Amino acid sequence: MGVVVQKYGGSSVADVEKIRAVARRVVATRAAGHPVVVVVSAMGNTTNELLQLARSVSQAPGRRELDMLISVGERISMALLSMAVTELGAPAVSFTGSQSGIITDERHSAARIVEVRPHRIRAALDEGKIVIVAGFQGVSRDREVTTLGRGGTDLTAVALAASLGADWCEICSDVDGVYSADPRKVPAARRLDTLSLDEALALARAGARVLQADAVALAHRMGIELNAAHMDQPPGSGTRIQVASLPQRIAAVTVDDQLERFQGPDLAALLESLGDTGAGIRRVDGAVLVDLRNWHDRQAYVLPPGVTSSRVAEVSAAGTEALASPELALAGLGALKAGGVQVLSWTATAQALSWLVPPEQADPAQRLVHAALL
Ligand code: ASP
Ligand code: MG
Repeated sequence: MGVVVQKYGGSSVADVEKIRAVARRVVATRAAGHPVVVVVSAMGNTTNELLQLARSVSQAPGRRELDMLISVGERISMALLSMAVTELGAPAVSFTGSQSGIITDERHSAARIVEVRPHRIRAALDEGKIVIVAGFQGVSRDREVTTLGRGGTDLTAVALAASLGADWCEICSDVDGVYSADPRKVPAARRLDTLSLDEALALARAGARVLQADAVALAHRMGIELNAAHMDQPPGSGTRIQVASLPQRIAAVTVDDQLERFQGPDLAALLESLGDTGAGIRRVDGAVLVDLRNWHDRQAYVLPPGVTSSRVAEVSAAGTEALASPELALAGLGALKAGGVQVLSWTATAQALSWLVPPEQADPAQRLVHAALL
């Protein structure tokens, strides 16, 4: 049977009991005959705590040292899980990103994978071992430890699935799949049984947390089917994210609340000053919309003269090609306005209709858009 790659997110390895439960699930997968590669995130809130720790020492921690620090979270998980699997009597070995052959460029805190050389993983699988890999990290050609951006464990899992020719890649968490909106915020949200990779990519690019955008982009490029599953349910039970397209539709509503919008008199100068930072520039349309996820030293950035900024949230209805329909965008806009939400700006592309709103109005905004368009 072909290799199966399983990724377990931070909530699935949050404490020792959960790590034991992951160990049982992994061992059961192997007992069903699959060679298994497991990719783990840092336990619970570890990455945020490590970033806090860095900020308590320095307002402008260097990105190299930050990567040295935050890559530790996943190493803790991998070693503990390997021990837990061994306790169950199955052979296991853990590897860091570097030992797994995840080669990246030098962009600390948001590095790109340039090559995967999983020689040690293959050798360990050939010996019948369960291989456990620390997600979210790699190594540059200069042998520097790098990290892949927040949520990057998904990317590690997809990259390994691609290079090992895995049958599929399972993304395990504490939710049983992808929903038409966050069910904690939108009670009417429905679970989706299937989603196409096109739709998943649109959703991830719009800032949905379920799947990391770079990971979905890689799966899309390589044609790798994903399954977003609940950790307590058997493999294959979650939302199937398939290669084949589905009929055109709005698949889901999502909110990106990790955004800051910069406005100023000289756009070129503003872009140049942002270019030297870890800011992820999402869009430029008169204002500059910045993704804050991997900009760990935002506090140290001084606004250029005349520039103002504010936190914003972007509510998006994401779906497949040719979604860009003025009627749908206007229907969403109308629903938001009727519901008393202040819309700062809106955009329509082939993959998503998006409305920028004040962060405190993000919750009602997603309910209104879900009710109007889904
Ligand atoms: N631990 C990292 C993060 O919190 C990577 C991941 O969870 O995928 O972003
Ligand atoms: Mg995490």
